[in-house]
Amino acid sequence: MARLIDGKAIAAEVVGKVKDAAETLKAKSGTVPGLAVVIVGDDPASHTYVAAKGRRAKECGFHSVQITLSAETTQVELEKVVAGLNEDPAIHGVLVQLPLPKHLDEFPVIQMIRPEKDVDGLSVVNAGKLAIGDFRTGLISCTPAGSMVLVRRVHGDDLSGLNAVVVGRSNLFGKPMGQLLLAANATVTMAHSRTADLAGICRKADILVAATGRAEMVKGDWVKPGATVIDVGITRVPAPERGEGKTRLLGDVAFDEAEKVAGAITPVPGGVGPMTITMLMANTVIAAYRASGLEAPS
Ligand code: NDP
Repeated sequence: MARLIDGKAIAAEVVGKVKDAAETLKAKSGTVPGLAVVIVGDDPASHTYVAAKGRRAKECGFHSVQITLSAETTQVELEKVVAGLNEDPAIHGVLVQLPLPKHLDEFPVIQMIRPEKDVDGLSVVNAGKLAIGDFRTGLISCTPAGSMVLVRRVHGDDLSGLNAVVVGRSNLFGKPMGQLLLAANATVTMAHSRTADLAGICRKADILVAATGRAEMVKGDWVKPGATVIDVGITRVPAPERGEGKTRLLGDVAFDEAEKVAGAITPVPGGVGPMTITMLMANTVIAAYRASGLEAPS
């Protein structure tokens, strides 16, 4: 049976380190890390995520700001808000919660966040810094950064000689995850919906990362015996067995089959999920150290 990678426990450890780093920064320079989250419209899931980010930021001792804009907000109004946060010295991290309402264009909004405050790591500047291996000034997208923390818990920092397969090639996850694994010396294969013999490719992976949003697509016999399996996918499905109208979350990996073959595996929920908000806090503290001219703790 595979060892379970407990994302919740690891996230709690990282939060503890972030808290300590925030306290040290305050003691050294008087700076309190500031995180601003902008939310536009009434999407209930987005409001839940934003509230969780605010709670976690306060728990870390940050100055936490939530800016809630109406669903009718125009592009110009939203960009004005982001421009103001770019100029605000008390704010070190700016995040615009996605998706935005349909009449708004996400791309220019994300690109106008100052790269040093882009704690979601989604701007082309931070994507480029990751691609060239500039970890000194870049900020890394939170879910891949969190997934790498989990991979390192199993394999350490150096993945030399290991084959890693990432299924999914989105800008949000797959591409930055591939870059991080490559930077750690893994031999990386990026697979996607046009890949031939996906099962065969997955079977070669010492580290298999699934991020497709296709529930339980990766079967047990796609997993190499002893491999590390990181399941990023989240699909909510009806769960009538839990009561009327109840739902549950499924990952991209058929967990019950895969845990019999893998060496280590993340559960869904409780694996990658808890790491995402945690890495947002880690990025904010890094941004605050850099803004204060100090080296961020690793
Ligand atoms: P996208 O929809 O942007 O990308 C999905 C990727 O999966 C695409 O590259 C697509 O290939 C590939 N894909 C889809 N179907 C198949 C298939 N049958 N075989 C092989 N590849 C396939 O999703 P995201 O990257 O944004 O997210 C992926 C999953 O991760 C989602 O379930 C999302 O909810 C979850 N997620 C979880 C987070 C967390 O905090 N735990 C955070 C972010 C995402 P192609 O490019 O060819 O279309």
